[in-house]
Amino acid sequence: MDKQQEFVLRTLEERDIRFIRLWFTDVLGVLKSVEIAPAELEGALAEGIGFDGSSIEGFARVHEADMLVKPDPSTFQVLPWRGDSPVTARMFCDLVMPGGAPSPADSRWVLRRTLATAAEAGFTFYTHPEIEFFLLRQPPQRGAPVPPPVDDSGYFDLTPNDISHDFRQQAIGVLERLGISVEFSHHEVAPGQQEIDLRYADALTIADNIMTFRQVVKEVALRQGVYATFMPKPYSDQAGSGMHTHLSLFEGDRNAFYDPTDPYHLSKVAQAFIAGLLVHAAEITAVTNQWVNSYKRIVGDQRAGEVLEAPAYVCWGHNNRSALVRIPLHKPNKPNATRIEFRSPDSACNPYLAFALILAAGLRGIQEGYELPPPAADDVWTLTEPQRNERGIRALPGTLEEAIATMERSEMVRDTLGADLFEFFLRNKRAEWAEYRRQVTPFEIDRYLPIL
Ligand code: GLU
Ligand code: MG
Ligand code: MG
Repeated sequence: MDKQQEFVLRTLEERDIRFIRLWFTDVLGVLKSVEIAPAELEGALAEGIGFDGSSIEGFARVHEADMLVKPDPSTFQVLPWRGDSPVTARMFCDLVMPGGAPSPADSRWVLRRTLATAAEAGFTFYTHPEIEFFLLRQPPQRGAPVPPPVDDSGYFDLTPNDISHDFRQQAIGVLERLGISVEFSHHEVAPGQQEIDLRYADALTIADNIMTFRQVVKEVALRQGVYATFMPKPYSDQAGSGMHTHLSLFEGDRNAFYDPTDPYHLSKVAQAFIAGLLVHAAEITAVTNQWVNSYKRIVGDQRAGEVLEAPAYVCWGHNNRSALVRIPLHKPNKPNATRIEFRSPDSACNPYLAFALILAAGLRGIQEGYELPPPAADDVWTLTEPQRNERGIRALPGTLEEAIATMERSEMVRDTLGADLFEFFLRNKRAEWAEYRRQVTPFEIDRYLPIL
């Protein structure tokens, strides 16, 4: 038994922990949990706990339904919102097949494998997400309009008696007790919309932290009598919720993205990484933006007075908020802070798969020596299509259907996800699209019924 396992077993006794939740994530990024008694934990750490994978979205074809969850002791934490009676802890798990091999349906494994490829090339991958979400006054009801947002505030607002402000402070308190550091939080542009930014860490820790974050935000909202949603675009006429993600590669203690001699302080490695992201951006969009609704956020046609700020075109720019890849203002005395911001992912993606594909795209750029095109100086939202074509700026997929078709042709995505997960994901998303296509929407009723 290693030190971490010993620590977990000792803590169980010392804190009188009665339940342990084993957490894992399905292919679509939904958190799953099975609760065990402390007596079961030693066996779970050694061999895993069996479950029927066929009843979980994307986990198995029926003939290979048996799978095991194997807790990762480095992720052990007591759940603060459960209180003391009884004390409950959680651990993230890897999924393994009965023979002990990693399960091809495990998205945490997909990320681990891609991180190992980066490690072979000498790189550690760090990320930090800006997570946006809405607080609504009530939970949704089937068939009813979206409940109203909790406030009427906007960007950076702080009003007296502010639900959002109290909410953010409580949520951050819980996150910190779970060992998740928060760097920044504020009210976002749309009424009821919040943003909380996590402090950077290695991508696997951050992916686990995002899964915990969503759970914490939902729990804290419930306790305050409001409802939190990570749906990418709940209101047609307001900005959506993105998960802009800051990225960097380190070689040991050295930021491999930093070069003081470049005008943007970007090294050749960083430039090739960005080029990789741009070349493969459309192929990975079905994963970074995985729902029909995701495409209502990245529309690209910002109208007068609207502040949508979600990217729709494949380009990069220095502090250009319309670009897919933005290079944040550099602080000259902080070489380690040199990083790039990838702006398409939304808060409802599977962070393990999204990070794996972002990293794989960037690594392709480095390995194949992709050339970085010139930066987009203009606000690309206001350019006409011929102007964008002239500058070689392509659009991201405009619908889930287009994104699926682009992903289907990508050998890079297939290699990174593994053939089984790749096929499942596409099958699931085709079904979602087919179901959506059959719907007659309120838009059509309002638009056509009076005139046709
Ligand atoms: N809500 C915007 C998006 O969906 C981002 C706003 C911002 O933080 O720049 O991407
Ligand atoms: Mg934001
Ligand atoms: Mg941002």
